[in-house]
Amino acid sequence: MNLQQVIKVAFKRFKTAFLTPSVTVEYPAVYKQPPHGSRVAIRNLFSECIGCHDCEAKCPMDCIKMNTEDFSKLDKVPKTAKGIIFEKKVTSFIIDYNECTNCGICVEVCPTQALSFDKNFIQPKQKQKQLILDLVHKPRSLRKDED
Ligand code: SF4
Ligand code: SF4
Repeated sequence: MNLQQVIKVAFKRFKTAFLTPSVTVEYPAVYKQPPHGSRVAIRNLFSECIGCHDCEAKCPMDCIKMNTEDFSKLDKVPKTAKGIIFEKKVTSFIIDYNECTNCGICVEVCPTQALSFDKNFIQPKQKQKQLILDLVHKPRSLRKDED
């Protein structure tokens, strides 16, 4: 390699290192919103979830199963931050991520914006049942005694 070629290679390296915009980010310090339809988790802010079942009814994959209870006469029926009165008490909110296509319909139809996409992707699991998560309770994936 002659001197001219060495300079050419050095300039190319310098240009790549310092003058070309980065195409990667330092995850998780820097975070980019995943594109629509990515396999991210769904988050439910239960202080805003009024138990209306709309998300469950509209899910095209039928992969949301929720259980609710009526408030007793002794309960003080809560309201959302915008003052919407809760319809039911949510006792479980199960999403089957084996079936969820991340279509976003549940997020769109939620009248209180309780549902949103999380920033974390669904981690692959060895067993299908490990991707069926009850968001009310601690997700199975976070348990130490996971089988
Ligand atoms: S994103 Fe779509 S498929 Fe997944 S739970 Fe919501 S409505 Fe169902
Ligand atoms: S649509 Fe929203 S408010 Fe209604 S049950 Fe689903 S998460 Fe809760």
